[in-house]
Amino acid sequence: MMSHRKKLPEGLALETLAVRTGMDRSAHNEHSEALYLTSSFVFDNAAQAAARFSGEEAGNVYARFTNPSVTLFEERLAALEGADACVATASGMAAITSLVMANLSAGDHIVASSSLFGSTIQLLGTIMPRFGIETTFVSQTNAAEWAQAVRPNTKLLFCETPSNPLTQVADIRALSVIAKKHHLLLAVDNCFCTPILQKPLELGADVVVHSATKYLDGQGRVLGGAVCGSKEIVEKVFLFLRTTGPTLSAFNAWVLGKGLETLSIRIKAQSAAALELATWLEAHPGVERVYYPGLPSHPQHALAMQQQKSGGAIVSFEVKGGKDAAWRVIDSCQLLSITGNLGDTRTTLTHPASTTHGRITPEARAIAGIHDNLLRMAVGLEAVEDIRNDLARGLSAS
Ligand SMILES: *Cc1c(COP(=O)(O)O)cnc(C)c1O
Repeated sequence: MMSHRKKLPEGLALETLAVRTGMDRSAHNEHSEALYLTSSFVFDNAAQAAARFSGEEAGNVYARFTNPSVTLFEERLAALEGADACVATASGMAAITSLVMANLSAGDHIVASSSLFGSTIQLLGTIMPRFGIETTFVSQTNAAEWAQAVRPNTKLLFCETPSNPLTQVADIRALSVIAKKHHLLLAVDNCFCTPILQKPLELGADVVVHSATKYLDGQGRVLGGAVCGSKEIVEKVFLFLRTTGPTLSAFNAWVLGKGLETLSIRIKAQSAAALELATWLEAHPGVERVYYPGLPSHPQHALAMQQQKSGGAIVSFEVKGGKDAAWRVIDSCQLLSITGNLGDTRTTLTHPASTTHGRITPEARAIAGIHDNLLRMAVGLEAVEDIRNDLARGLSAS
């Protein structure tokens, strides 16, 4: 049934790749992508079934392995990341878990940033050690610490940049030098920037992982994830997935494939709005400090502007006063959503110290720099002045 595939011209821009890659039309010649809600695929005869199962003949067999809707999303995301291959997963955490399980074994070691997404810290710090894979957590911003932590059994460097919620920027090029010297894989979680703002593979990373749940969907609808990189690495992750099953569903893949079509205009608009709001917040008398890589006051502003096209859409800020002052900003909002999620069309506001980082001890929070007066905003697509007015309601004027 996979009939009409047009070869795309060379050298297309990201915006064009996002809407034109992976269009495999069925015999019906639909213009929008068909959604293949099917768990299995049929064969012309017994010999073809045998050839497909053995892998002698390429083609779909069973949706835990491949499905055309999932393939479309994978091809589109690979094109955007500039990767040779991509494999989609049921969630961002499934992508990270599968990457580690497929490429490492008991006795291996990982060096990772201590500013990773909470569940990633949990996975690497608590779950993987039960299977003999240890992780040393090091500073997000100090590449020398990464180099020092490398051991003879280290196999993987893992970072996420900018970090959540303080938007600290890791130097991908510097980490790739360490990775190459010791023959390690460098994996970057590119969730916050997306390939529109940052291309880790061009900066020397070997693997990009995504929580597609965030900006790739961009409309807060479905869970998904992906691993992008060389054919060899992606094939290993694919073989792990097809046996263990954290595969992306066809429906979610179809939603995510459509999400990629508008990714560029969304992330550009959201980061332009974020820069405007960060600039306004920094000048506001009720705000003590703003964390935004697009502002010259950010400690890694110069690095961020080298490796990212803009500051992104996440702005964190400390309110003058303590937790009460921060909660007052949240509770005075009539528009912004009080939720831990990010990457939606709707602006979300969260108090990390009592939510996403609420379960760690106050001492650990202090070391991580998550103060009680800190708020994290993920800027959506509302008009900037409406977001500004909503924040202003709860910010004290002095
Ligand atoms: C949300 C998130 C994840 C996990 O993704 P899920 O799709 O929720 O499993 C991983 N990394 C980052 C940076 C995230 O924000």
